[in-house]
Amino acid sequence: PPDSGALGRATWTLLHTMAANYPETASLEEQRDMKMFIKTFARFYPCWWCAKDFRKYIASQEPQVESREKLGWWMCMAHNEVNVKLGKPEFDCNNWLKRWKTGWDD
Ligand code: FAD
Repeated sequence: PPDSGALGRATWTLLHTMAANYPETASLEEQRDMKMFIKTFARFYPCWWCAKDFRKYIASQEPQVESREKLGWWMCMAHNEVNVKLGKPEFDCNNWLKRWKTGWDD
């Protein structure tokens, strides 16, 4: 599969930026579609061992899709799960919107 570092950084950028621009209050259709997107993403993410663990995470921590706040928090926790697994520092999820709503810089 592609380099998991570059792929991971690009993918987290997409996932967190999607969460940061998700409706503040999502309709039932939006909630259903976001759940489907996460499930489909977890099926086809082209780092198979990453995807396998992500599927396990989704099974134990159901994606929270009711609102931007909930989705962003859920995504941050999912990312932290990977950070811990890789021995990286955990990110303070109180800062996720600040990190991902406006800036593309790192
Ligand atoms: P990244 O972890 O890519 O983070 C990018 C930026 O996001 C950081 O600089 C920081 O500003 C911000 N950030 C960090 N943590 C959070 C958070 N919790 N919430 C919000 N923002 C945050 N790699 C593996 O080697 N093994 C795996 O099993 C694995 N599983 C993955 C599963 C998924 C679903 C994804 C998308 C990626 C996975 N990766 C995995 C890749 C890994 O998570 C990193 O992307 C990669 O190691 C590069 O790390 P990085 O230090 O550049 O920053």
